[in-house]
Amino acid sequence: MKGKIFLFGLFLLMLPMFLAYQKNEQKVKIVDKKVGWGFKKASNRSIDAIIIHSTFNASGTDSFSVEGVLEQFKSYGVSSHYLIDREGTVFRLVDEKNIAHHAGASSLPDGRVNVNSTSIGIEIITTLYTSPTEQQYNSAAALVKDIKRRRAIKYIKGHNEIAPGRKTDPWNFNWDKFNLLTQ
Ligand SMILES: [Zn+2]
Repeated sequence: MKGKIFLFGLFLLMLPMFLAYQKNEQKVKIVDKKVGWGFKKASNRSIDAIIIHSTFNASGTDSFSVEGVLEQFKSYGVSSHYLIDREGTVFRLVDEKNIAHHAGASSLPDGRVNVNSTSIGIEIITTLYTSPTEQQYNSAAALVKDIKRRRAIKYIKGHNEIAPGRKTDPWNFNWDKFNLLTQ
């Protein structure tokens, strides 16, 4: 009997630790880096799609420079909600409630256009000749899982899937790997 009480006590003691561990594992760390361009303010928009992109800094020597990518976004007047650097750091550029200009002319599998208005855009820094890093896959997956817990997401698509012929990103993206991580 004492043994059982001891084990039960141990279980009670460890339960919060286990729950904290689970929570921690699923939690994604986000660094706020809000931009002042490339989005339209909104309240109450309904979101059911996540669009995965890739981008790199085409000017300067560092293709993976976050600041370089942001300068480019600024010059084109575009943005995304999230930007993930090579180390897997997730930067929040635009609040999810606002409409970021990331998709351009595109359409969802059900034919809906104006994809920006119902989607969240995630940009992963990589080039045409490099693959996303392990940290980027892990962070992108954790972020997508977090969004899925909060919202009824119907589509998770690459930019190339919603704008075929016009867009080719996300480049060198392993969807099988990503889908396993987001399960
Ligand atoms: Zn894109």
